[in-house]
Amino acid sequence: MKILVLNAGSSSQKSCLYDITGDQLPAYPPHPLWEATIDWTVATDYGVMKVKANGIKQETNLSSDAKEEAISKLLQTLVSGDTQVLESLSEINAVGHRVVHGGTEYSEATRITPEVQATITQLIPLAPSHNPANLQGIEAVERVLPDVPQVAVFDTAFHSQMPPEAAVYPIPYEWFEQGVRRYGFHGTSHRYCALRTAELMEKPLESLKMITCHLGNGCSLAAVKDGISVNTTMGFTPLEGLMMGTRSGSIDPAIIFYLMRDRGFDVNSIDRMLNKESGFKGVSGLSADLRTILHAMNEKNERATLAFDLYIHRLRSAIGQMLASLGGLDVLVFTAGVGENSVDVRHRACEGFEFLGLTLDVEKNMNSPMDTDITTPDSAVRVYVIHTEEDWAIARQTWQCLR
Ligand code: ADP
Repeated sequence: MKILVLNAGSSSQKSCLYDITGDQLPAYPPHPLWEATIDWTVATDYGVMKVKANGIKQETNLSSDAKEEAISKLLQTLVSGDTQVLESLSEINAVGHRVVHGGTEYSEATRITPEVQATITQLIPLAPSHNPANLQGIEAVERVLPDVPQVAVFDTAFHSQMPPEAAVYPIPYEWFEQGVRRYGFHGTSHRYCALRTAELMEKPLESLKMITCHLGNGCSLAAVKDGISVNTTMGFTPLEGLMMGTRSGSIDPAIIFYLMRDRGFDVNSIDRMLNKESGFKGVSGLSADLRTILHAMNEKNERATLAFDLYIHRLRSAIGQMLASLGGLDVLVFTAGVGENSVDVRHRACEGFEFLGLTLDVEKNMNSPMDTDITTPDSAVRVYVIHTEEDWAIARQTWQCLR
């Protein structure tokens, strides 16, 4: 079965094509036949499309005026030129979309129907920069491949079974009834990493108490028990919780009232500052990228050191919060850009939990090995580094949904 995955962000489009043969999913994530990305952040008047297939890498500029046609242009590279991997687009059997917000309606990957599209549209106010891009992708595929089944894989789905005490905010209950609640995000990555870790441990996921740490530009944790997410750090939006690259994470909401009442800020500028000018970038004054922060720390930059210490302090506090929701811990999982690559973040985060009998193997941690346990054999808690494969997870769930 040839499955096309579309992962549309607010300013980028990632896509790949998998071929799943036989009746069973492969034990290891396969390499896609074809991969493509469009990045609209490099310039104001054009975007850059990069395509990788047949051992070839190709780069093309796309005019910003033609954004509407960008997905068709991307699909054309599947059937023409040096990156051609299909005779015709009709060879595609299914399309899986990453959809950021599915509200509480969907706990599983779902076949896209007009009703599902209507729900994604209704949820635009809760994900204004993402759900419209996801809908555009769905509509673009409908135009090119009207008969091919499409599946939505929601970022919120894995958290949709959180118990009420984790999902409800302590605010007037009517707001909860109107949708102001904790949804959680990064669900596709948390679910994939939880399943992959259980596979590697050769234990049923349902038997494990697990904390998955998705630490990329955006960061969130999930507490996984009985195979479901019972708590997570992101909430109504991806701004809640941990300190991130440019996002503040949780702060006292009264800071916003103060800035508006006494300092003359308007709501849009506060929104921008908390989402784009905070986190590593805001505290260090240098960059959102942890690699720059670590380099500056080596040069004895105090603000970079403060930013790193703050990040670790908040990460450990949140791990403690997840631990309390689980009432114990079998395995801690690190994933995404920071979690997969930063020896220092893993080391410092785990230092806070040695009292649980958690002992990192320093050598193994240093090597940043993917899909591997980095603890000593006698450690009471296992720690895994898992390479998150969101696109493969979408393909896998699309395959399962259609079967
Ligand atoms: P996104 O959340 O946008 O998908 P990623 O998961 O790719 O992002 O994470 C990107 C971040 O990972 C970078 O901003 C950087 O801070 C961090 N990162 C990547 N490689 C390293 C590394 N070798 N050491 C430390 N941090 C890294």
